[in-house]
Amino acid sequence: MGLREELESRFGSNFSDSITERFSHSADMGFVPQLVWSGNIKLNLIPDYVIYPTSVEDVVDLVKIALKYKVPIIPYGRATNRYGNALPVDGGIVVDFAKMDKVDVDEVNSQAISEPGATWKLVDLAAQSKGLQLRTFPSSYDSTVGGGIAGDALGIGSYEYGFISDNISFVDMVNPRGEVVRLEGPNLALASGAEGITGIIVRAGVKLRKYAPTEAIVLAFNSFDDTVKAIGEFYREVIPAWHVQVRGPSISTNIADRFNAKLSRGKWNMIIMYPSTRSTLVEPKIYRIAQTFNAEIYEGEWTGWWSFNHGVVAALRSKGLLIHQHGLIHYTKLVELVNELKGFLGELGKLEPNSGFDLDIDLEKREVLLVNAFTEVSLKYEDKKIIYDLAKNTLMMDSFIKVGGSLLSIGIFAHKYAKNRLSAMGKTFQQLGVDRYEVIKKYKEEMDPEELFNPGKVLDPKKRGKVVLEIVGKQQEALRFRFGIGLAKAIVPGGEVQGFTVVKRYLDIFADYAMQCIDCAMCVTVCPQFKLIPQTPYAPKGMFDFVKGAVTYYYLKGGVDIPDDAIVELSGCHKCGLCDGVCPAKIPISSLLVRLNGIVARKMPEEPPVDVPLLQDPELRSVNDNSSDIILWIGKNLVDNPNVAITVLRLLKLVGAKAKVIGTTYDSGFMDYISGGEKLNEKMEKNKSVLASAVEVITIAPEDYRVFSEAYKDYSNMNNMRMGFEVSPIELRLLKSLPIDGNGEEIYLHAACFATPYVGEVIKRLTDLGFRVRKVEGCSGAILEKNLGKRADKMARALGAKYPMLVTLCPLASLKFKENGIPAKTLVEFIAEKVGLTTVVTSSTKAKLELSDSEKQELRNAITTSLLKSLSSKSSIIADTVTFTSSGIDEYKKIIEDVIVEALSDAGDGIKVHIKKLLENKKAQGATYDDIVNYLSALIRELSNIISTMQLDPIIGVVINQVKGLTSEQFDEGVLRQTLILLVRENEKVIKERATALTADAVS
Ligand SMILES: Cc1cc2nc3c(=O)[nH]c(=O)nc-3n(C[C@H](O)[C@H](O)[C@H](O)COP(=O)(O)OP(=O)(O)OC[C@H]3O[C@@H](n4cnc5c(N)ncnc54)[C@H](O)[C@@H]3O)c2cc1C
Ligand code: SF4
Ligand code: SF4
Repeated sequence: MGLREELESRFGSNFSDSITERFSHSADMGFVPQLVWSGNIKLNLIPDYVIYPTSVEDVVDLVKIALKYKVPIIPYGRATNRYGNALPVDGGIVVDFAKMDKVDVDEVNSQAISEPGATWKLVDLAAQSKGLQLRTFPSSYDSTVGGGIAGDALGIGSYEYGFISDNISFVDMVNPRGEVVRLEGPNLALASGAEGITGIIVRAGVKLRKYAPTEAIVLAFNSFDDTVKAIGEFYREVIPAWHVQVRGPSISTNIADRFNAKLSRGKWNMIIMYPSTRSTLVEPKIYRIAQTFNAEIYEGEWTGWWSFNHGVVAALRSKGLLIHQHGLIHYTKLVELVNELKGFLGELGKLEPNSGFDLDIDLEKREVLLVNAFTEVSLKYEDKKIIYDLAKNTLMMDSFIKVGGSLLSIGIFAHKYAKNRLSAMGKTFQQLGVDRYEVIKKYKEEMDPEELFNPGKVLDPKKRGKVVLEIVGKQQEALRFRFGIGLAKAIVPGGEVQGFTVVKRYLDIFADYAMQCIDCAMCVTVCPQFKLIPQTPYAPKGMFDFVKGAVTYYYLKGGVDIPDDAIVELSGCHKCGLCDGVCPAKIPISSLLVRLNGIVARKMPEEPPVDVPLLQDPELRSVNDNSSDIILWIGKNLVDNPNVAITVLRLLKLVGAKAKVIGTTYDSGFMDYISGGEKLNEKMEKNKSVLASAVEVITIAPEDYRVFSEAYKDYSNMNNMRMGFEVSPIELRLLKSLPIDGNGEEIYLHAACFATPYVGEVIKRLTDLGFRVRKVEGCSGAILEKNLGKRADKMARALGAKYPMLVTLCPLASLKFKENGIPAKTLVEFIAEKVGLTTVVTSSTKAKLELSDSEKQELRNAITTSLLKSLSSKSSIIADTVTFTSSGIDEYKKIIEDVIVEALSDAGDGIKVHIKKLLENKKAQGATYDDIVNYLSALIRELSNIISTMQLDPIIGVVINQVKGLTSEQFDEGVLRQTLILLVRENEKVIKERATALTADAVS
């Protein structure tokens, strides 16, 4: 058994080597990925595997496997740090602690016993439920306990309680020999600030304080001088506040404007927080300071904006590139630091592109300040000249050191400053007489000679990940241009990051927005799908980090392919919009995800209409009244689950309702709407006559509800269509008319994504009928993801594990759940049972035919052979044009696009021959017309799946080798590879359409 097999067999579904999860774990808040994009620093930031341990035993076993195979192991919390601290530098195994987030509150000792993946927010909430609360935490409230201890963070509450290390009672760590050791007192130095290079934190005691409501007062000073003096007052005259933070004038203005925060625009705002129990002690002292320095004083806010120390990053990221450096200094050095910074950044308190800087400061109890310094440049985040971020950063970094301070964390580079951070600024351990730097260094050398634990971080690597040392060289190069970005721009050509342009072709504007994400992880905490499957790519932060990972991969491997199944997996979500509400960067996340789904939906070929003969049954037919102005829209979405349609008809019969029944050959155009396809108009046109005289359209599938109530309303004018009808979901109709007594029964109601507009009303009616309804969120992926990607199945299983039986509003979700072995029914079926109707109408739950495994494999072989053959037939013409690869992907693409599209069309024709033969065989076996149509649908679905998930690299690799043999010209192989991959991906629909463009006689 090799490493991969061993990991998979030990960790099962908590093991992943998919590109979705690997790419999503290769970026953090900082600019380390950009170093790979902009130059030739080949930091391999992409992990080979991601593991989600669920217990200490998991971690111990994982460490043993890593030791056995001598493979790097990198602990990962939420990756909200700035210096690549939780990223690999040489591949390896990333250990994501999302599934180890249990918190127990020990009220007697006022501490929380926390697993490493719990966020500070989670710990705080658990503590508050027991009348306690956190003493201190980084302002990244949604980052983890493990990450906070490993980085020895500080921030909110540090004025009273100091660093995180001051507030930890013990740490359990799996050391580099795979043993669990308990660290307490001075021994905490081994884990605190060590960034995971000495072992993996698996449990910690977090000290808590008594809960009391927090009050906040703001002092708004007119000048920096007054602010500095006021900071001095806080240390000279001990003021029993809990948290003190100072925000510069430009930051204050931006945050006030962007977040509607209660701050004085253009002033130095000092926010002072304290427990309400101490107001009589704190307030007189603050009033005196206000008087002395002529400061405006007003009541502040306690929640919301303050939680983003880097709210300013969010506020400004969209305007240009914000360069940020945070460090620790003694408070008396603040003026000196500012003078240093002024030397190359310009005016303090001003934040404009390429001019000025501003500060955001937290006070720590031992007279240390955590100073965040920000400056802005006119470059875009994805600009090749990002390297000059490094120049300014380096200078800012040096300024902290010059005044005797340190950086906040060391991470992937700046190792030469590790001693400043760990010892000089390691106040907790200084007091205990421990030289933390020396302790960590000695332990590392002794216990981890192979440098497997988070290599390349904190200490200069000697064995592994030595490539990080090249960053120092880059820093020097960048510093040559420190006199201005303008000069750099003149000297360095280009600016466009080619890899970003390539990734954008796959992901469209989603890629642009990814650059605005500040990696604060707030969306992760609220995301219901992350709660169900806590794996980073399934919440927006991971989705955006994926983009950065894909660009990095492009530079590491000379090209990247993102198959449709990865896009589907990435964007699959419940579309609940909770992330939109918390995102400080104000990214319209849920709409972006719908658009991303649309990219794949556009590429899916349409299956031929299938007529499920529902009305052949006299009982069901009796519901139909062609003259009725009420329409029952069954539509194509019910082909997969006709039982639900049959149940609806029987229920309508029971209540004596009549409607004009529209069968399964009709398509509302939902997929066209979602994918922004032109065919929606065509579908509307086709449906115009059936809808013309309707006053009400009753829908069964939430997708149909959505498209009628949104798209048909929006576009009816354009299509010259009468929209005189109301749209009603069937459940609301039935719940109104049927006499049901809930009798206190509990229902787990799965609120399908596209049922959001009416789910509230459904719950209300069920509750009125006496049911106890628990709303269950989580997208089944049944319609948009189909069978591409693994997310939807994982989600279904996670829901199944949590709830005994799901009642869903979506007929397709119900099928998806059942396919995963989860007891589920639609609400329609549930209602039918309550009124005594049997709901199992056909013997099979799924009407649609599926191909057998051997049929699938046969089709896959036919596709691969055909594609390879047709692309190979173009090798000589490609060979004839390769010199043009030197012009870059875009130019070369224009040259060979027609040739490749022709090849894809030929490939499609080749596959069509195969499909025709399969249909002939079926006919020869005596299959009926309906059987043939069903079989063709199954072939089309499978064909689409195969093309959307296939790895193109091997096929393109063969073609490139053929080209090499046909030309003696030098050419850019990377450009050729990427161009071919892109052309096939972008035009895969040509293969799908040609392959399935069968004439009627092929079916009949
Ligand atoms: C909006 C925002 C505000 C911030 N404010 C502050 C602030 O006020 N103060 C501050 O100090 N920082 C701040 N940061 C930086 C960052 O959030 C902190 O450093 C935070 O502690 C990182 O936690 P994380 O869970 O994201 O850890 P990660 O970034 O994932 O990891 C951080 C380090 O911890 C290691 N690690 C993670 N888990 C373990 C484990 N179980 N065992 C061993 N090592 C482990 C990683 O390998 C890495 O070296 C802020 C960041 C953001 C985005
Ligand atoms: S819209 Fe999607 S990504 Fe956002 S919170 Fe909801 S489920 Fe999560
Ligand atoms: S998407 Fe928004 S909320 Fe989520 S990590 Fe990025 S900036 Fe934060």
